Amino acid sequence: MKTTLKTNITVKDICAGFVYSELEGKGLFGLSGKLTIQPEYQRNYIYASDGGKREQAVIESVLNGYPLGLIYFNKVGKDQFEVLDGQQRITSLGRFVTDKFAIKDENGNEQYFSGMAQDKQKKILETTLLIYECEGTESEIKEWFKTINIVGVPLNEQELLNAVYSGPFVTKGKEWFSNSQNANIQKWSAYIKGSVNRQDFWHTALDWVSKGKIGEYMSAHRYDNNIDEVKNYFDTVIDWASAIFEDVESEMRGLEWGRLYETYHKNSYDPKKVSAEMHRLYADPYVKNRRGIFEYILGGSRDTRLLDVRVFDEATKRAVYAKQTDEAKKKKISNCPLCAISHDANKSKIWQFNEMDADHVSAWSKGGATSAKNCQMLCKTHNRAKGNR
Ligand SMILES: [Zn+2]
Repeated sequence: MKTTLKTNITVKDICAGFVYSELEGKGLFGLSGKLTIQPEYQRNYIYASDGGKREQAVIESVLNGYPLGLIYFNKVGKDQFEVLDGQQRITSLGRFVTDKFAIKDENGNEQYFSGMAQDKQKKILETTLLIYECEGTESEIKEWFKTINIVGVPLNEQELLNAVYSGPFVTKGKEWFSNSQNANIQKWSAYIKGSVNRQDFWHTALDWVSKGKIGEYMSAHRYDNNIDEVKNYFDTVIDWASAIFEDVESEMRGLEWGRLYETYHKNSYDPKKVSAEMHRLYADPYVKNRRGIFEYILGGSRDTRLLDVRVFDEATKRAVYAKQTDEAKKKKISNCPLCAISHDANKSKIWQFNEMDADHVSAWSKGGATSAKNCQMLCKTHNRAKGNR
């Protein structure tokens, strides 16, 4: 890869012909039309999403004469460039000189570029930037891009994948899944955690359809002109989940719905019964893991490990141990009731407290309470064999 350092390009040059798209949330062009600020493999503009602190910081740096750091351009043709690294900073500059946002001056007053003193305007426009122009093959550029972090906000996994597999497929995917104007986002948000801008919905959709092999999938579909398969699969999963679970609970967000769909979609469920079961479990104080309720129900309400049911407290266990051990010693049998009725060497063994575990006499899943009356101590082997707490 060939690189050339340019030190004579000013903010004024960069911002000539600057276009910002409110709809797409990104800076489009600069440098009198010679510069593409956000090529399709780039992320959306996110400096404005923190209440504008970062874009304000960019302008203050310039006014104070602080360096803005290196900016990288990719030379894509004669006198044609794309921003490889620095698009957030360039977009902040462009948005400021076109009066898209104001900064706070030393007195706390909002100041737009057009309302600033001439000397301050001049200082901003005449600031020169440190720009590396890079020339190389697509794979060289992308390999390099993959290894850098953009100042301030490192690229996340999906943003890197979008860069590496850029093309029509990624463009379409972002248009649908990374577009905050998409009216479906609110519905999807009941099931998916994360932000549209940071590609979390697109990432989840790809994760589901590819069964976790996102890179392979994106590589195979890179030049597809549609994302029909991703959309169809995604809609199928969401429709399936919303048909079974009529109540929307906050614990649904971010569950592995793709995996749950694959595992359970051949079973049939009665949404009314599911809803009743949900309410019962949400009201049960012994259920520690509410996120596990969904798979517990899908699996036929059997695997209580998913619910992380609260076990007996230490005092209860000690009391039950003492009572069982006293009685066992009198009868000269094991203090593990299951060992006591066995015919092996342990039938009269007195186990130590730490060699035993608490067990629900009547299983919790069948309505057994988590109280002393329903507690018995078993040796660890028998407790594990019984399994169901
Ligand atoms: Zn035993």
